[in-house]
Amino acid sequence: MIEILLERYRNRDSRSDGNAKNLPFLDDLEPAISPIAAIISCSDTRMEPSRVFELYPGEVFSIRNIANLVPIHSRRNYPCETAAGLEFAVKILRVPHIVVLGHSNCMGIHTMMELPYFSANDSEVDRWVRQAKPICEYLENISHRLPLETREKNCEQASIRLSLSRLTTYPCIRTRVETNELVLHGWYFDFSEDELFRFDPDSECFIRDARVKKAKST
Ligand SMILES: [Zn+2]
Repeated sequence: MIEILLERYRNRDSRSDGNAKNLPFLDDLEPAISPIAAIISCSDTRMEPSRVFELYPGEVFSIRNIANLVPIHSRRNYPCETAAGLEFAVKILRVPHIVVLGHSNCMGIHTMMELPYFSANDSEVDRWVRQAKPICEYLENISHRLPLETREKNCEQASIRLSLSRLTTYPCIRTRVETNELVLHGWYFDFSEDELFRFDPDSECFIRDARVKKAKST
């Protein structure tokens, strides 16, 4: 199966991605790039920010982990890849935006929901997703009568909000947010509807982002 990747690479037109036009030559990209944003998204194989937003190389600094979680800033957790990526994005690339991008049917969140309250035998995956357990446990307690699909969606969106709040535990992020040099966003992508929802801090709701409807070609 890995041959599929090699096959695509070998047949790829280096001046085009096949669908998008005007893809810049990789050699032409400035070494000191200025990405539009840093995006923290899930490692899920279906969750490709470059596909959702039709990105070109150099446009976004990508940080990926299981369930798009942000650990609380703590020296005791180090080394932590996500923490290092955040610091790189903010201090070196000076990104003006950070997006926590969650998604529907997240296996990481599903795994977290099924974790027992306490376990001495957590796997590495369990230990990672357990970071979001407290807030989802609270949701489960107040909404256990709802259908599983709804409870999963609630936990997926709650984990985005949790990660947003934890971003500000990083001193370099907190400082730039306070000086309006950096804006934090929580977005949720629904695979089934192919729709994006953005967290609105005023209403504390995820609001569907309007899409431009294209006329069907004949
Ligand atoms: Zn996921």
